[in-house]
Amino acid sequence: MKPFRYERAAEAGAAVTALGSSPHARYLGGGTNLVDLMKLGVEQPDLLVDVTALPHTAIEHTSAGGLLVGAAVRNSELAADHAVRTRYPVLSQALLAGASGQLRNAATVGGNLLQRTRCPYFQDPGKPCNKREPGTGCPAREGVHRELAVLGASPSCVATHPSDMAVALAALDAGVHVLTRSGTRTVPVTELHRLPGGSPERDTVLAPGDLVTHVELGAVPEAAGSVYRKVRDRAAYSFALVSVAAALHVDGGFVRRVRLAFGGVAARPWRARTAEERLLGAPATAESFARAVDAELAPAEPLRDNAFKVPLLRSLTVRTLAELAERSEPSGRRTGDGGPHPEGPWETP
Ligand SMILES: Cc1cc2nc3c(=O)[nH]c(=O)nc-3n(C[C@H](O)[C@H](O)[C@H](O)COP(=O)(O)OP(=O)(O)OC[C@H]3O[C@@H](n4cnc5c(N)ncnc54)[C@H](O)[C@@H]3O)c2cc1C
Ligand code: SF4
Repeated sequence: MKPFRYERAAEAGAAVTALGSSPHARYLGGGTNLVDLMKLGVEQPDLLVDVTALPHTAIEHTSAGGLLVGAAVRNSELAADHAVRTRYPVLSQALLAGASGQLRNAATVGGNLLQRTRCPYFQDPGKPCNKREPGTGCPAREGVHRELAVLGASPSCVATHPSDMAVALAALDAGVHVLTRSGTRTVPVTELHRLPGGSPERDTVLAPGDLVTHVELGAVPEAAGSVYRKVRDRAAYSFALVSVAAALHVDGGFVRRVRLAFGGVAARPWRARTAEERLLGAPATAESFARAVDAELAPAEPLRDNAFKVPLLRSLTVRTLAELAERSEPSGRRTGDGGPHPEGPWETP
């Protein structure tokens, strides 16, 4: 590890100014990703600005009926929060499906959102990698890519974003509050992470030095019955091969509201808008769930060793939606069995 300076920021504006003093400076949250990358020689900051002492440690109720979550809130605290468990269970479940108890106690909301890909070539400075060193190539396409992307990838990069929490936040339409050198802005979490295109070295739309201060959740009534389902190689310490964050409201046998996001398949949490559009007003049956997911996954471009992700994600999503439909409206109470709902069209989220 190269020598570096360490500062603990007490005020957010000062933290942004401190990052502006060096292009190689980095914010430090729990350090569970950044410090690992420093040990591997992938990250070599000359200055670490610790942002865990900033006053961004609360989970507050907003006047709009949602929650404002500080970027320094620990993953374990967010997962255990009563309002999160009861009103946004998908978020609590996604957090608990990630890493281990010790890691979740250290990891922060800001750091979890901005953690970097687990592509093995990215983590090995001895190998070429367009994301780590632009223009050197992408050995993953022909090499080890079993865990990498099937949607939204480019010839330059097929990395996936590893955060489970971000997938739940995408389904919930969360907003990310950012402090920049010129003021504040809010970025929808679905637009925070970039698809690789020709510049995979840029993971997000944030500029260097931009500080995540909060994540805001709106009032989402259907989220009270939401779920997160994750398929991984081992039951613990394992990133998602594929995952689904879903919320569904069924009325009279028809889908009235739906939210769907996928993890483990793209460089960002994948909000499944095509599937959502197909589902609104459709009968809440396994057939229409399958048709909607097929439409979403039609553009998938799997590589030699990760084609299994497409049928795996399809069956996981259909099963998850069927489970939610049954919970939303047990089959005995359903009346619809095909065709558009008489009172449609239905609201989009
Ligand atoms: C063995 C292991 C297993 C894991 N399994 C999973 C898993 O299954 N699912 C999952 O989702 N995650 C998993 N993780 C990843 C873990 O969740 C992340 O390492 C953690 O969430 C990162 O948070 P942190 O606060 O430690 O971030 P840090 O390591 O401190 O920072 C990560 C990045 O975010 C930046 N940053 C931090 N805070 C801010 C801020 N406020 N504003 C702007 N930039 C900021 C840092 O500069 C850095 O670039 C695993 C990690 C390990 C080591
Ligand atoms: S997939 Fe992306 S991160 Fe992995 S080697 Fe290729 S360019 Fe690097």
